[in-house]
Amino acid sequence: MSRPIQVLIDPAAIAHNYHRMKALAPSSKVYAVTKANGYGHGLERVAAALPDADGFALLEFDRAVALREAGVAQPILLLEGVFSAGELLLASQHALTVAVHEEQALQWLETLALPRPLDIYLKLNTGMNRLGFVAETAPAVVARLQACANVASVTLMTHFATADNPEQGITSQLARFDAVAGGLGLPMTLANSAATFDFPQVHRDWVRPGVALYGATPFAHRSAASLGLVAAMSLESEIIGVQCLKAGDSVGYGAAFTAAGPMRVGIVACGYADGYPRHAPTGTPVLVGGVRTRLLGRVSMDMLAVDLSGLPEARTGSPVELWGKRLPIDEVATAAGTIGYELMCAVAPRVPVRTL
Ligand SMILES: *Cc1c(COP(=O)(O)O)cnc(C)c1O
Repeated sequence: MSRPIQVLIDPAAIAHNYHRMKALAPSSKVYAVTKANGYGHGLERVAAALPDADGFALLEFDRAVALREAGVAQPILLLEGVFSAGELLLASQHALTVAVHEEQALQWLETLALPRPLDIYLKLNTGMNRLGFVAETAPAVVARLQACANVASVTLMTHFATADNPEQGITSQLARFDAVAGGLGLPMTLANSAATFDFPQVHRDWVRPGVALYGATPFAHRSAASLGLVAAMSLESEIIGVQCLKAGDSVGYGAAFTAAGPMRVGIVACGYADGYPRHAPTGTPVLVGGVRTRLLGRVSMDMLAVDLSGLPEARTGSPVELWGKRLPIDEVATAAGTIGYELMCAVAPRVPVRTL
């Protein structure tokens, strides 16, 4: 028997969440955002779960090519574009859709001889100030793209910085986008998961949900369940040892937790080398035998400790859910000062994956 930790991926949950987003934006097409290995769920596994997705969006070039070579016929959008002229050539060969966000790629499009024209997403910076042409330059850039024999179509794209925060919202970015896009008559894509939930006015031609597909929330104060999402990933393990502490005994590195009285402590085969956040403090929720308890002390590389005080039945071999169907990843993330996105992406390669 191998070390009991494993990550379970539920393709039916991914399909459910995709259709939930599709139902929210019934007049739009939906890119399944699958960057970072499908947010840690496995790119091929996610693609297999979504045979009817309208398109896939990611940014790892070789993975995009692999998806095409595996037979995916839908649009595959490279969200960060290409990183070399050679990649632009390959993108054309594999019929990938390419975001163009700065001058260099535009010049490659204008000067290279490509085997077939590309569908281009022109990325406009409307205030996030990460990637994109200054929004107001869109008419001039569109004119250059449309004059280019290598360009089959142009879609306008922008990305919101604060769609997940009701106080900040999307108003100023949307106004900037619409001021330039309004007159151009081109297809558009603006919405990430949060904007797909909260701002129907930005659904437009394509929405681009990522985290919601995997059953986690894009919002700080709304649960995935309240959004109609189902967790697609469960990180599970077992108790591999039990210690009985007396008052004053401590557990783990740094002796960061000390027992106030006699108590039982379970040691779980899961640590930061598995992708569990080392910053998770005492009190972070953990399920043992389906019952909610708490993490104790410091997470170590391969193990963590949990409180078995209220769990007289728990023993070596008791099942543990670190996050998943019954313990939302977002709750664990919040306790650890991060977001569900980061935890999903961080599950380590050494953890065996089982598809349900
Ligand atoms: C990651 C990403 C998304 C998806 O964002 P979520 O918050 O996970 O829905 C959409 N668009 C772009 C450009 C992205 O990089």
